[in-house]
Amino acid sequence: MTVEDLRNWADSLKEIPDNHDQVFTVSEFKFDLKSINFHIFMTTRRLISFTRNANHIATDATYKLLWLNFPILLCGTTDANKAFHPFGMLITKNETENDFTFMFKTVRDLSLQLYQWQYSPTVLIADAAQAITNGFKNVFELNKRITCWAHVERKIKERTNGIREQDLIKADFNDLQSNVQEKHFDIWLSESNKGALKPTIETKDWTFAYEWLKLGKRIVKYTVEDKLSYMFTSSKALANANKEKCKDYFAKVDGWTSFEEYLIWNYSMKCVNINLATWESSICSCYNWKKDKKCKHTIGVSYFLGLNDIPGLDLNIEGNSKREYNDIQEPSQPTYL
Ligand SMILES: [Zn+2]
Repeated sequence: MTVEDLRNWADSLKEIPDNHDQVFTVSEFKFDLKSINFHIFMTTRRLISFTRNANHIATDATYKLLWLNFPILLCGTTDANKAFHPFGMLITKNETENDFTFMFKTVRDLSLQLYQWQYSPTVLIADAAQAITNGFKNVFELNKRITCWAHVERKIKERTNGIREQDLIKADFNDLQSNVQEKHFDIWLSESNKGALKPTIETKDWTFAYEWLKLGKRIVKYTVEDKLSYMFTSSKALANANKEKCKDYFAKVDGWTSFEEYLIWNYSMKCVNINLATWESSICSCYNWKKDKKCKHTIGVSYFLGLNDIPGLDLNIEGNSKREYNDIQEPSQPTYL
């Protein structure tokens, strides 16, 4: 196939069809004496419609999906269940700032043209490539740059290869990364408030929540800076939460002076903030919540507050083991202070 053939092919698909799932292209070819450069963005009306629910863009280049030996750049958004929803894909010669600028600009312009939507995401999720950051900044206002954790993990492994303490170093990074605080929840909150995004609670999630409830952890209601939290000690801790411990926890949010101290603080207490309108979108300070936007604690505390019913509870608890459940659990209601 010649470049001319490629251009003809792209041109043959440039009309935007009425059909929501039929592909069309937006392309750009530049020829000069020294080089040939081109961009072909392929998408559908439906894919562009995803821009209306997204305030972040996730993007990457892939060399696993080659077409005529050219890389593909992808951009899209992710939902609460970690599913990726592409806006389209770009066939290009390189992965430079210019290529990413073209892709982001095309998505923004199509969103406006097709849906009269002023698409202005402010959060960028990608690997650490500067070309992506610059490309984004040329089109949108960048408030938050998030490096994809999968990429970071791969890099940590690469850079620590041959070091005896590789596993320990990785564990430390995981512990640091698991430090979720109120101030880090902004993105999720702003999205979950739209009501469109909430994680799906699966059978295994209910099971974990049920097992956690059986531990009978004391849940303490604690308000700090007008924010109501439900606090409890971690599953492994023998002691229960009390008001004093909650106070200590918040006092030490930025107050630890060594990594050791940080770890003790980080694992001492868990903190849940309940979304009363949509309990599935409640947030927790634990590691699992950060990964999955759901955890046994948000489900369990919501259950305590009467916001949900654990499926099969009648069978498993009311019938056979209600007595056992009540014996273990102490107290059976949250402690209000
Ligand atoms: Zn949790």
